Amino acid sequence: APDAPRRAIRELPDELISQIAAGEVVERPASVVRELVDNALDAGATQVNVKLMAGGVRAIVVEDDGLGIPPEELPLALKRHATSKIRSLEELESVATMGFRGEALAAISSVAEMAIATRCEGAPHAHRLEARSGELKIAARSRGTSVEVRELFFSTPARRKFLKTDATELAHCLESVRRHALARPDVGFAVWHEGKLVEQWRAGSAEQRLLDVLGEDFFGSSRAVYAEAGPLRIYGRAGLPEAARSRSDMQYVYVNGRYVRDKLIAHGIRSAYEDQLHGSRQPSYVLFIDIAPDRVDVNVHPTKIEVRFRDGREIHQQVRYAVQDALALSRAQAGEAPAE
Ligand code: ADP
Ligand code: MG
Repeated sequence: APDAPRRAIRELPDELISQIAAGEVVERPASVVRELVDNALDAGATQVNVKLMAGGVRAIVVEDDGLGIPPEELPLALKRHATSKIRSLEELESVATMGFRGEALAAISSVAEMAIATRCEGAPHAHRLEARSGELKIAARSRGTSVEVRELFFSTPARRKFLKTDATELAHCLESVRRHALARPDVGFAVWHEGKLVEQWRAGSAEQRLLDVLGEDFFGSSRAVYAEAGPLRIYGRAGLPEAARSRSDMQYVYVNGRYVRDKLIAHGIRSAYEDQLHGSRQPSYVLFIDIAPDRVDVNVHPTKIEVRFRDGREIHQQVRYAVQDALALSRAQAGEAPAE
């Protein structure tokens, strides 16, 4: 029999509920960057600036030129399960924005100092809300929103201990912006660390963005992928087998513009290479899969990095065909008969 006395059931205080929930969404500075850039893109930004101090642990500032938040809604933006992006289950099932859970700002503000400065079109001035004090002040800035996050995990030392060196955290933050940048060539991105510009991608064509982000080596040793099958469109670039790497650090898959990790898709791609990859060599690729939103469930994981497809087998097969076609084309161009 258990010898500890039974403890009564109690509702947790709000603050603790938020901190527990934050654990799912905010793992490290890069998670904050991901959520804030998602929000900037959902607000229609054409330029997103990310400013980091100490790998993002000391400070993360994400500035956009999007729609802004009206001052009367600012306190709501910080509340859990408060969102402007969906209103009903119906809207959830066809959601086109990156966000919809209304959790990120609440989560971040429960594990860091946060302030939001924002201004809408036509507003006489900007407003700045400090999360901890709830203080709302008049501020100066042009249209758009800046979210400042300081001292991540200052109140949760157990979490803070899991952070790696500033250089490693910075690398994760950069990877997070890179994932966004690949999907949104129409948006300019810039990243500063300790006041120095460390990465900049100007708005332009999709091809130019892939070249800028992934480099000439990848571009030169990869082939364009394009396939349409019913409600499915698959496009991007697949690396040639001979350019495969020992690490899987150049594998990007997007579903309806959202970066995802999906075993089924990864397997579909890999199987297109069949026996052309030696040992544990990893192909490089960036693949965009556009599909009718009612055929994919994005509400599977708090960070939305996983999705569930209504017809997974069909997608697996179409992805495989699409990549196979791209690779076969390259063989034909090199004057070899396609293997069969
Ligand atoms: P979600 O993105 O799931 O709605 P968040 O907690 O990330 O939840 O944001 C809450 C709300 O705050 C959003 O629905 C949006 O209305 C507003 N918001 C957050 N960031 C921005 C931004 N950069 N520009 C405009 N509105 C924003
Ligand atoms: Mg969000």
